[in-house]
Amino acid sequence: MLKTGATIGILGGGQLARMLALAAARLGYRCHVYSPDEGSCAFDVVHSKTCATYEDEAALGRFAGAVDVITYEFENVPAETAAFLAKRKQVLPNPQVLEITQDRLIEKEFISGQKIATAPYAAVHSAVQLADAVQMIGLPAVLKTRKLGYDGKGQARIAKGADPMAAWRTVQTQPAIMEGFIKFEREVSVVAARSADGKVECFELTENEHRDHILHISRVPARVTPALAAEARRIAGRIAKAFDYVGVLAVEMFVVKEGRKQHVLVNEIAPRVHNSGHWTIDGCTVSQFEQHIRAIAGLPLAKPVRLGRKVEMVNLIGLEIDEAKRWLSVPGASVHVYHKGEARPRRKMGHVTRVWAK
Ligand code: AMP
Repeated sequence: MLKTGATIGILGGGQLARMLALAAARLGYRCHVYSPDEGSCAFDVVHSKTCATYEDEAALGRFAGAVDVITYEFENVPAETAAFLAKRKQVLPNPQVLEITQDRLIEKEFISGQKIATAPYAAVHSAVQLADAVQMIGLPAVLKTRKLGYDGKGQARIAKGADPMAAWRTVQTQPAIMEGFIKFEREVSVVAARSADGKVECFELTENEHRDHILHISRVPARVTPALAAEARRIAGRIAKAFDYVGVLAVEMFVVKEGRKQHVLVNEIAPRVHNSGHWTIDGCTVSQFEQHIRAIAGLPLAKPVRLGRKVEMVNLIGLEIDEAKRWLSVPGASVHVYHKGEARPRRKMGHVTRVWAK
C-alpha cells in the first residue's frame, strides 16, 4: 500500500492527468507529471513536473527515481518508454496492456479471443486484402488505421457502392482494419476499476452521444434493460481480468437489437480513465479518478453510488468553453475548466456535469 505523502508518476499532462492529480491530492498523495508539452494543463496542479520527450532516457531515469509508482493517462505511450520505466519502477496498469490497445487489430483479436462479440472485422494491409475484406464484410463499412487513431482521426467510412480504394487513400493507405458498419441503437461504455487483489467495481453503464466522432454528452442511467447493463459490466470485468489489470479502464460498446433482444458489441478499450466517466466526479460517491488512484496505490476500491436521479456530462469543445460562465449559475451544474490554452476546434477544453436531485 502506498504511504500517505508518496509520489505517483503520471505519463502525459492533459486533462485526464490533471483530474487524476486532483483526486490523488485528496487521498494524501503527490503527483509528478511527465510530459513533452510545455503547456500541459496538468502541470498547474502537481507537486513536480518533467518536461522532456518520451525518448529522453536521462529524464525518464530521473523521473522513475523520483516517484513511487507510475501510471499513464493515454494509451499511446511508446512501448520503449514503458519498458524502460518498468525496469526501474512499477508501472500500472502493466505495459503489456498498451501493446494490445495501441493497435486496433491486435485489440480486436484479443477481444474475440475472450469470446466477446465485436463488429465483424478484417485486416487491410494491401489492395488485395482490401478487396477480400469488402467481399467478406460487405458495405457499408468503416476503415480504421491500426495505430494512432482517436476521435474519428484515421477513419474513413465506405458507403454502399463507393470505391474502397478511395477510402483507404484518405487514411494514407496505412495498415488498417475494416469493420462492418454497425447500425447501433445507442453507444454505451463501462468504466471499471480492478484492484491488485482482483476485485472489480464497475461504474454504472453510461450512454454516450457523439458529435462529429467526438464524445458530446454522457448520460446516466443509460436507456437499456438491467439485463443488458449487467452483461456489459460482466464483459468489462472479464476484459480487466484477462489483462490482469490494475487501475481504471473503459470499454466502449454498441447496443444492437436482434429481433426483440438487445445485446452489446465491444468497439474499443481505453486502458485509462475515460471521458465518459467524467460524470462520476460530481454525480457519484467516488470518481473514476479516485478509483484509479485507489487501485494503483493498493487502497480498497469504493462501491460507487450515483448521486441524483440522473446525471449528464456535456463536453465543452473548442470555443464552447466560453459557455462555462453561463453554466456557473445553472442550478445543479458543476463546471470544469481544463486551462489548456488556445481553444482550437475539436479540442476538449472543459466539461459541465448536471445532477438532477433524487
Ligand atoms: P472509435 O474511434 O473506434 O471509437 O470510433 C469513433 C466513433 O465512430 C464511435 O464512437 C462510433 O460512433 C463510430 N463508429 C466506429 N466504428 C463503427 C462501426 N463499426 N460501425 C458504426 N459506427 C462506428
